[in-house]
Amino acid sequence: MRVIARIKEMQEWSERERCAGKRIAFVPTMGFLHDGHLELVRDGRKRGDRLVVSIFVNPTQFGPQEDFAAYPRDFERDRKLLDQAGTDILFYPASSEMYPDGYRTYVEVEKLSHFLCGAFRPGHFRGVTTVLVKLFSIVRPHVVVLGAKDYQQLRIVCRMVEDLNLAIEVVGYPTVREEDGLAMSSRNAYLNQEERRAALSLSRSLKKAESLVLEGERESRRIVEAVRSEIDKEPLARLEYVQVCNPESLEEVERIDGNAVLALAVRVGRARLIDNTLLKGRRG
Ligand code: AMP
Repeated sequence: MRVIARIKEMQEWSERERCAGKRIAFVPTMGFLHDGHLELVRDGRKRGDRLVVSIFVNPTQFGPQEDFAAYPRDFERDRKLLDQAGTDILFYPASSEMYPDGYRTYVEVEKLSHFLCGAFRPGHFRGVTTVLVKLFSIVRPHVVVLGAKDYQQLRIVCRMVEDLNLAIEVVGYPTVREEDGLAMSSRNAYLNQEERRAALSLSRSLKKAESLVLEGERESRRIVEAVRSEIDKEPLARLEYVQVCNPESLEEVERIDGNAVLALAVRVGRARLIDNTLLKGRRG
């Protein structure tokens, strides 16, 4: 595996591989890798002749009161894991090269960026879409693998790729969980033992919602109530939002007729955790 830090060097590599007819797969990350990331990496490995993984903790997607400085980092460990997983290039740019003095350009996907997490993290998705467009134009991938754990992010990126005619295939990879159901996340590192246990209320509440739908419940309001009461049982967990929404538009739905996505954000200690599940309103 080769580590590339300079943007120009990354672009030259991609240009050569493209000219040689190679299909480039790309997995963008913020590092501090867990098995969820590594599953995306292994999936990306199968989808391209070449595999690029980036590690970049993107400052523009963190709010002023958020955890940019505290975000966990372990480059040496990540480097070994990516090498073992068959990565060709680890792209590891410096912030000063991604956003030099005088940087002025941002990409924003309207509406979709303002629902759900967007309402609580102003500017977050603007930072995400901006950095991804930059990474896409540096790495020039044919296919990008993103996690469905960040469901809103996945939908926003699909919309952006279509709207900007980026000619990239976007693959959504299912959420990877710990054995007890907790969705893997770099931010789980913030949790102490008690908080780790309280964090199980997220996946538990999603399971509860799934079983209600299986039993025939179709009213979003009742499902939201059930989730809320499950989270409220945990004194260490504080619900930020829970919503049932249309899987494409992310608009809130009152009834689950076709498919709907249940998404929630919960604060546990200093971690802000998100999770989601697909609710299938139609039988069969
Ligand atoms: P991050 O490093 O948090 O920016 O995540 C990098 C990529 O990994 C994103 O596409 C995430 O959606 C994805 N990802 C993170 N956690 C998981 C998980 N538990 N299961 C599946 N994908 C994940």
